[in-house]
Amino acid sequence: MHDSVLMAEISWVEYERRLKEEDAIVLVPVGAVEQHGPHLPLGTDAILAGEMSRRAAARVGGIVAPTLSYGYKSQPRTGGGDHFPGSTGLDGDNLSRLLCDVLSELGRTGAAKLAVIDGHYENQFFLTEGCEQAVRRLRAQGIDTVQILKMRYPEKVKPETLEYIEQFYPNGYPGLDLEHGGILETSMMLYLFPHLVNMDRVPLDPPANFPPYDLYPHTAAEWVPPSGVLTPAIRSSGEIGKLLVDEFVDLVAGALEAAFRSPRVDRARLIAQP
Ligand code: ZN
Ligand code: MN
Repeated sequence: MHDSVLMAEISWVEYERRLKEEDAIVLVPVGAVEQHGPHLPLGTDAILAGEMSRRAAARVGGIVAPTLSYGYKSQPRTGGGDHFPGSTGLDGDNLSRLLCDVLSELGRTGAAKLAVIDGHYENQFFLTEGCEQAVRRLRAQGIDTVQILKMRYPEKVKPETLEYIEQFYPNGYPGLDLEHGGILETSMMLYLFPHLVNMDRVPLDPPANFPPYDLYPHTAAEWVPPSGVLTPAIRSSGEIGKLLVDEFVDLVAGALEAAFRSPRVDRARLIAQP
């Protein structure tokens, strides 16, 4: 029990000890309930954000708070849209306020280093707003020692990893913009949770072809392949998944180290010097 990095699995006494003695970073993974094609589960973004956070936390002395499993509404060009049964989105202001509540409560009860780990593209600026609101609320309570890191772990992929993936697309890789339920997420799920992937159901649709704009109300049913997958995933594998998971865990752990563990420059002192 004491060894768990999951906040939900340790007592308040152990939680407080790790904050005080180990200066633990508290990670808050955020996902979505969103279709990911017929071969992946609806919770893919939340499951992956939680697992990246768990692995990164184990490396840097962190504690993972329960995942915020719901996210902002799936958009046609990035997540297939919200017309699929099960795609269940929050209004943006609710997501911001939910995150603000969680971060300010974590800060109020002693966590000074917080990290929001986002696994769902559409969340990003609503989470930004949640961080901004939390800082403001904590300051109003007289707490100005809390720092919040926020990152979207699939934001960047190393050129050499991309090159490796591109070799599986003789007709050209459709690109990261269309990665939804595609080779990246499918491979990571195959590596981490193979029992949740049904490779027999991977669709053979060609990549989606979107105009450079959005329309409201959505016309996603015309734009998005019926499977909900935006790019072919058929060549997904656990080997590719391991490459990506290792890279993303490095990215998250490296960010946490850089922001919270390296010796901080004393800005006030630097400015004071002649
Ligand atoms: Zn996803
Ligand atoms: Mn998503």
